[in-house]
Amino acid sequence: MIDNINVDDLVIGAGLCGLMYGLTAATEGRSVVISEAHHKVGGYATNFYRNKRKFIFDCSQHKVSGLREHVGNLWNTLKRLELHSLLEEFHLHEEIGTVVYRGNFIRIPSEPNEIKETLRMYFPDETTGIEQLFKDIETHGYQHYMFFRRLMNEYTINKDILRESRGLSKITAREYFETIFKGNDIIEVLSPIAIYSGSISNEVNAFYFLHCLYAMFYGGQAYVKGTGQHLSNVLLKEFINRGGILLKKNPVYEMEDHDEHMLVKTRKNMIRAKNVIATCPPEDVLKMLKKQEYTDRFQSVINNFEVGWGHFCVYIVISVPPEEIGIFSPEYLLVSDSGDNFTKEDFENDRYYDLFTLSISNYHRFDPAGGYVIQLVMLDHGDRWFHLSEEEYTARKQKIQDKFIKRALKTFPKLEGKLIYTESSTPKTNYKFTLATKGSAFAYKMLPRTNLSLLSDFPNDKIKLVSTWAGGPGYETAMCFGFTQGKLLSKNTKI
Ligand SMILES: Cc1cc2nc3c(=O)[nH]c(=O)nc-3n(C[C@H](O)[C@H](O)[C@H](O)COP(=O)(O)OP(=O)(O)OC[C@H]3O[C@@H](n4cnc5c(N)ncnc54)[C@H](O)[C@@H]3O)c2cc1C
Repeated sequence: MIDNINVDDLVIGAGLCGLMYGLTAATEGRSVVISEAHHKVGGYATNFYRNKRKFIFDCSQHKVSGLREHVGNLWNTLKRLELHSLLEEFHLHEEIGTVVYRGNFIRIPSEPNEIKETLRMYFPDETTGIEQLFKDIETHGYQHYMFFRRLMNEYTINKDILRESRGLSKITAREYFETIFKGNDIIEVLSPIAIYSGSISNEVNAFYFLHCLYAMFYGGQAYVKGTGQHLSNVLLKEFINRGGILLKKNPVYEMEDHDEHMLVKTRKNMIRAKNVIATCPPEDVLKMLKKQEYTDRFQSVINNFEVGWGHFCVYIVISVPPEEIGIFSPEYLLVSDSGDNFTKEDFENDRYYDLFTLSISNYHRFDPAGGYVIQLVMLDHGDRWFHLSEEEYTARKQKIQDKFIKRALKTFPKLEGKLIYTESSTPKTNYKFTLATKGSAFAYKMLPRTNLSLLSDFPNDKIKLVSTWAGGPGYETAMCFGFTQGKLLSKNTKI
C-alpha cells in the first residue's frame, strides 16, 4: 500500500463526469487525482474489440446533444476549456433517426423547423398540438436545460412560466402529450425519443422530457468518430497535460474524515484529499464511509429515488454494408403497433421485449472503420437479471437476443443470413464494467416530482456527489455537470 498522495481533489471514477471535473479543476490550478476501478477510462463512454480488432463496438454513443455552435451548453463548455480541436471532431447528425410505426418509415430530421414540418405532414390534424409542443420546448424545455448555467449565475429563471414548469414536473410526458394531442399515433411516434435519455414516456416527467427535446432539437446532436472511447481518451490526455494524475485499476474502497482532509483507501493507495468528488453511485459513497450518524439520514434521502434503466444490447456484425439490406438511417426506432404504453405485467412476463421500442443503430454509418456493425438496443432493468444462476442467465440472454433479431428481421428481411457475429450484453454486464447500481445506464429515473437537488447537499462538506446520479443522465449532462462543479468548487475553495 503506497501512502504518499496528498491532493486537493480525489475524484472517484473516470467516466465522462469525472474526467470533465478533473480537467476543469486541473485547469483552475488544483491538484487532482482520479482513481478509476477499470483498466481504461470512460465508464459507459468506452468501446471493445473483437476478431483481432477488426470489429469495434461502441458501448453507448448514439447522440451527444448540445453541440450546436453558440446554442448548445456542451459546445459552450468545451469552448471555455479551450478544447477547440475536440470540438472540430464532432459531426452533427443529419437526422435524429427513423421511427418505424405501423408500416411508415418516418424520418425525423435534425433542424427544429424541419422536425415540425415532418410532424405536420404526417399528422395534419394535430397542428395545434404540434405548435404547442414546440412552444413548450422553447420555454419550459429551455428553462430546464439551462439548469447548469443557473448554478453559475449565467441564467435567470423565467418566473413568468415557473408555476407551469413545476406543473409539468408533476406529470408524465405521456400525460402531457395527451393534453395537447387529439390522437394516439403522434404520441407513439414522439414517445420513443425518450429512450435517448434512458426514459419511457409513461414514466419520465414532462418538464425533463421537454429539456431532452430542447437539447436534441435545438442544442444539436452529434457524434465523434472512433466511438465514445475516443472522446474519453481525448479528455484524459488533456487532463494529464494540465497536471492531473490518473490511477487505473484502482477502486476506492473506504474513506474516513480526518477534519482537515479525507483519508481515502483504494486498492493500491492511501490518499489524503481536501475534497472527494464522487461520480460513483451515491449509495456506494455511503458504504465507503464508516457508519456515521449522517449516513442513515442520507440513506433516507437516496430512498426517494428509483434506480434507472439499464439496457440489453445485441452487438452484430453483418457480411455486407448495411445499405445493401435497406439500413440507411443512422438509427431506426421500431415501435410496436400498440406503442410504448406497456404494463407492469408485460414487463414481468417478457412480453415487454416484443412490445417496447427496439432501436437499431447503424454504427457503420457513424464510423465505417469499425466494420459493418449494427446494434439492437432496448431499455432493460437489473431486477430481471441479477438474481439468475449462470445457466439461467445464459439461456435468458439467448432468448432475448433471438427475440430482438426476429424483430429486426421483420423490418429488414434482407438481414436474413447476413449475420456473421453476434454477442449480447445485459444490465449485469453494465455493472461489471461500471459498478453502476443494478447496471443502471441512466442513473436515477427522472419520474414526476424527482428532485435531484436533494443530492447536492451531502452532509459532509468535504464530499461532493458530482455525477449523473446527482445531475441527470447523458453525455452532455455528465460533461457539463463535471465542468460546472469543477468551476464552482475552485471558486469557493481558494488554494
Ligand atoms: C447503451 C447506452 C446508450 C447510451 N446512449 C446515450 C446517448 O446516445 N446520448 C447520451 O447523451 N447518453 C447516452 N447514454 C448515457 C451515457 O453513456 C451516461 O449517462 C454517461 O456516460 C454517464 O457518465 P458518468 O461519468 O456519470 O458515469 P459512468 O460512465 O458510469 O462512469 C463512472 C465511472 O466510475 C467508476 N467507478 C465506479 N465506482 C468506483 C469506485 N468505487 N472506485 C473507482 N471507480 C469507480 C466506473 O468504473 C466508471 O468508469 C447511453 C448509455 C448506454 C449504456
